[in-house]
Amino acid sequence: PVRVRMAPSPTGSPHVGLVRTALYNWAFARHHGGTFVFRVEDTDTARNTQESYDALIDLFTWLGLTWDEGPDVGGDFGPYRQSERFEIYADVARRLREAGRAYDCYCSTEELEARNEAARSEGRAPGYDGHCRDLSEEQVQAYEAEGRKPVLRFRMPDRAITFDDLVRGEITFQPENVPDFVLVRNNGHPLYTLVNPVDDALMEITHVLRGEDILSSTPRQIALYDALAEIGVGNGTTPQFGHLPYVMGQGNKKLSKRDPEANALGYRDAGFLPEGLLNYLALLGWAIAEDRDVFGIDEMVEVFDIRRVNPNPARFDLKKCEAINASHVRALAVDDLAERIVAHLQRAGVLSADVTDEQRAVVHAATPLVQERMVTLDEAPAMLEFLLVDEDAFTRDPADVAKLLDEQGVAVVRAAHDALAAASEWTTESIDATLRRSLVEELGLKPRNAFGPVRVALTGRKVSPPLFESLELLGRERSLARLASAQQ
Ligand code: GLU
Repeated sequence: PVRVRMAPSPTGSPHVGLVRTALYNWAFARHHGGTFVFRVEDTDTARNTQESYDALIDLFTWLGLTWDEGPDVGGDFGPYRQSERFEIYADVARRLREAGRAYDCYCSTEELEARNEAARSEGRAPGYDGHCRDLSEEQVQAYEAEGRKPVLRFRMPDRAITFDDLVRGEITFQPENVPDFVLVRNNGHPLYTLVNPVDDALMEITHVLRGEDILSSTPRQIALYDALAEIGVGNGTTPQFGHLPYVMGQGNKKLSKRDPEANALGYRDAGFLPEGLLNYLALLGWAIAEDRDVFGIDEMVEVFDIRRVNPNPARFDLKKCEAINASHVRALAVDDLAERIVAHLQRAGVLSADVTDEQRAVVHAATPLVQERMVTLDEAPAMLEFLLVDEDAFTRDPADVAKLLDEQGVAVVRAAHDALAAASEWTTESIDATLRRSLVEELGLKPRNAFGPVRVALTGRKVSPPLFESLELLGRERSLARLASAQQ
């Protein structure tokens, strides 16, 4: 059975590259009817924060990338936070040492640096030189007497390591490029190099799909797997690895955590739909078909094949992400979109937490008017606020007022007010007919000059949902009051 995982560290704000990695793992698991594990790599206690941990949970919950094992849901291979597994790592470290697969290394940082420096000047590759691999009992005692504390170092086998990367094909690392490496610091703290493969082994992960930035760790992990199998940690099989392409930002540099468009939760706050963001991120290294960009992740699950991921760097393009999001906005059922708009209006503070039935009904009625015009939900507050504010809190954009409610504009609004006040019906059609007759036919105005001032009077802005529908939705009384107040 397929078992895959995402293994983020709770530092900083989650990156879109992490979401892409999680999505591919999730789609792979779902495609194969496997298990998707969420493991939190939080052994770096100095850098982890509760805030980042909460952000991860919020993010993946919002995205709907449900995990089968992990925080909140538990599972047979827990605990799923590495900070709760230190005893396991200490035990594995001890057994690796006893089996001779790892050894105590007493070299100080200064000594290592000096020897690396020497290697470089002689044209040899830097990296651990095996100094402490086979220390005699006396040497160990001498170091101990000096008060040195050893790190635990893994003994790499003296052979090339080859594996079939699921994305990149066959990759070989020569032994001189993969020196012995540290598993446990001299204060007893286990490192990523140990805990990540130990947990992959214990959690019986079958496929490790992760970013290309970690490719250089893979030969070490494969060698470590072999040692873990020997000492009976895990079920003895080595996972298959697939390294996903880099995500590049502006200027063809790797998208870094500092780039604003890298912050995954920023997309929720900016009103993106999870469907839109996931669809876009899916395209960073994969395609559903040559001529098709817009799809749902269910469709992705159906056909996802890790062997068809493109190993070349993918470029992050915010414009394309927005265009894809807009397609998903248009594809939503009106009521579904309306409810998301309600939630976003609450987030934006336009609606309070206890939204009334009436406000909800207004949003549902207005949604078809704005659906085609929206790229993200974030356009909803500006477009719908005029329908939802209390009358005494209603304001108009001063720049639009200056432009459109000049003397002539006010005269137009007065004519509109008087014509509408005399109308007996209040429907989109009757309003349309009344305003066309009174402004366009009787006053001889061009439609643009006729309706612009009315729009600003009514909605406060020169860009709004369609005017006649807006008047109908706002209702006779409030509409007439606004057309009156705009004349003052
Ligand atoms: N915690 C590691 C990271 O976030 C996980 C790497 C991996 O997937 O093996 O980079």
